[in-house]
Amino acid sequence: MKRHITQNAVVSMLLVLSLLFSGCTAPSSPAPSATPQQEEAAYQKYSRTNLSVFDTVITLTGFSQSQEDFDRAADRTFALLSEYDHIFDGYNEYEGLHNLYYVNRHAAEAPVVVPEALYDLIVWCKEKWDAGLRETNIAMGAVLSIWHEYRAAGMANPDAAKLPSEAELRAAGEHIDFNSIQLDPETRSIFFSDPAMTLDIGAVAKGYAADKAAEYLYQAMPSFLLSLGGNVYAGNAPKDGRENWAVGVQNPDIAQNSTIDILDVHDKTVVTSGDYWRYYTVDGQRYHHIIDPETLMPSRKMVSVTILCEESCLADFLSTTLFVLTYEEGRALADSMPGVEVMWILPDGTIEATEGMKQYARSMKNPS
Ligand code: ADP
Ligand code: MG
Repeated sequence: MKRHITQNAVVSMLLVLSLLFSGCTAPSSPAPSATPQQEEAAYQKYSRTNLSVFDTVITLTGFSQSQEDFDRAADRTFALLSEYDHIFDGYNEYEGLHNLYYVNRHAAEAPVVVPEALYDLIVWCKEKWDAGLRETNIAMGAVLSIWHEYRAAGMANPDAAKLPSEAELRAAGEHIDFNSIQLDPETRSIFFSDPAMTLDIGAVAKGYAADKAAEYLYQAMPSFLLSLGGNVYAGNAPKDGRENWAVGVQNPDIAQNSTIDILDVHDKTVVTSGDYWRYYTVDGQRYHHIIDPETLMPSRKMVSVTILCEESCLADFLSTTLFVLTYEEGRALADSMPGVEVMWILPDGTIEATEGMKQYARSMKNPS
């Protein structure tokens, strides 16, 4: 099965691009010393977009001293992202690679030795599970694949769009226990003690890959903005006089093709989960792609949740988690996590934010 880039992803790419090329807030007075300006003058802004990795639009913008320097770093970045895409791919097999697809097919027969990144990511998610964060459950593949199938069929043929039956969901819901994943650090292998269980790492894979790409980019470029669909990583201030990168928070009304706010950030990641990314419609009602493990249905408590912190994997994990929690539950969790800021858009259009988020969001900053 080959995957398709959604129209929404393209809209989000255009939004990010339009932000990148507009609204530079260069200082109006000259810098006290010429040195920073001279240094900045040595850098040009370059950008590259890739449509073939992670089922989304990926754009890297960075400052380099030459097109060649940028190209070298961009080649390596996209190669890295492509490696992670193959490892985390649940739909395609690749010769000799024990990727997610392979694990889901074979890990109930015998332990499967997996690439370090896949093992690491599962261990990372297990730590969160063990700490009691259970709304993002990567062991929920059995349920998520049912929704995936019905959504794909409903999108291909909207007149015949149907919902999965409660019985079908409940039967699959018997096979989503995280404890059925057995991990052996000695051999770096994974075994499923429940043969009907599968993994779905869609909630965290892009975040994990974004962190790895950012780690590389920090030593390859003086400043960069990497956008993987709804996951953005901003490394160092832009080398053009601005103090921050401008990252848009999408207006959930996609037709408007606008942002609801802009976050001014550097050395931060911004990740949004929204109900407008992937959905299908049955009897006039939208059914999107974030499933509440309690009800096994799309969660309706939020329209979007945007997380700002320094670790993209955590931001991705939390954007899904807080999408499933109520505002009060999510707020308590966010307030207990230093360095994690959140903006929620609720179904009635209310926008909520943590106190710290207000330092970054243009519409919320106190006029000084
Ligand atoms: P996006 O894929 O739009 O970036 P998310 O990061 O919120 O959005 O991830 C949603 C994906 O995660 C879904 O497509 C599905 O594969 C998976 N998923 C949905 N609900 C859950 C959940 N409760 N726990 C774990 N994974 C989930
Ligand atoms: Mg997520």
